[in-house]
Amino acid sequence: MYTFQEIWGNQRLLQHLRIAVKNEKTSHAYLFVGGAGAGKRMIANTFAKYLLCSGRQEEACGICDSCRVFDSGNHPDVIHVTSEKKTLGVDEIRGQVLETVDIKPYHYAKKIYIIHQAHTMTVQAQNALLKTLEEPPSYAVFLLLAENEDAFLPTILSRTVTLKISPLSEEEISRYLIQKGLTTAEEAVFFAAYGQGRIGHALELIEDETFGQMRENILKQMSQLSSMKLADVLLLAKEWEIYKNDYRFLDIIDLWYRDLLVAKSLRDEGFLIQKDKKEMIFSAAKEPTEILAKKAAAVIKAKERLKQNGNFRLTLEVMLMELKENKT
Ligand SMILES: [Zn+2]
Repeated sequence: MYTFQEIWGNQRLLQHLRIAVKNEKTSHAYLFVGGAGAGKRMIANTFAKYLLCSGRQEEACGICDSCRVFDSGNHPDVIHVTSEKKTLGVDEIRGQVLETVDIKPYHYAKKIYIIHQAHTMTVQAQNALLKTLEEPPSYAVFLLLAENEDAFLPTILSRTVTLKISPLSEEEISRYLIQKGLTTAEEAVFFAAYGQGRIGHALELIEDETFGQMRENILKQMSQLSSMKLADVLLLAKEWEIYKNDYRFLDIIDLWYRDLLVAKSLRDEGFLIQKDKKEMIFSAAKEPTEILAKKAAAVIKAKERLKQNGNFRLTLEVMLMELKENKT
């Protein structure tokens, strides 16, 4: 668990961390920036374990006291700073960082604070942390995990080494999913595209049964749309109220038309994103490309309307009418 070898992509960033540890030139504070599911926690944990290992070579040894206790999840000198609220406030920083930072590590050379969702830190919380970042005890290392840098005070940014976690290519994610035996080769393409460069996001979707069911349901309805009566099509808007808080169903419809267009114009399954549904897609791709393009545009328009808080039912009814329309 937690080896550099397990991490896909971002090899330069990992090499930077590894060399810093080997040369004993680690900084007191790092800011890892990447979207949800990009691998921030994985990278921070791997770095922390390596930093604390007493028998490390190219990787943490996995057998020293520190490694063993790290793998158990109860390392006394690794503190995970979290909040149960939407923001990380000054109380959390005081209680979980400032009150303990002057106490020397229990057993090991370093004491590592991993601050989760650091981009949600309030200004007061950042100011409270700042003093410690300016004059940290020699043993303290802060790993701030954040989805973006915008929320930070310049004074915080100037005292941390910022490391940006790059998204992986869809091919890399596909290969990962197949190699780990998590999906078939055909499903992998879909989840990789949907994961938007973030393995964690793709993994979440694979495990999310709600998403799987939603996808099956929507694709079935989409494939039947042309043979349905307009009145029944409009009823879908009511049925979809179960997705009122989960607009991913529109992404699925969006992808459906994207793939219909590919099937119609290129006639090559190699370019489909939903390769696992290729039969369904090819048999539904009957309308002229201009009509399909118009329908794809209607889906995007509906997404935008909902984003601007448009009426859910009405927006979907308008969209469904356009999806049912067969004229350009
Ligand atoms: Zn070790």
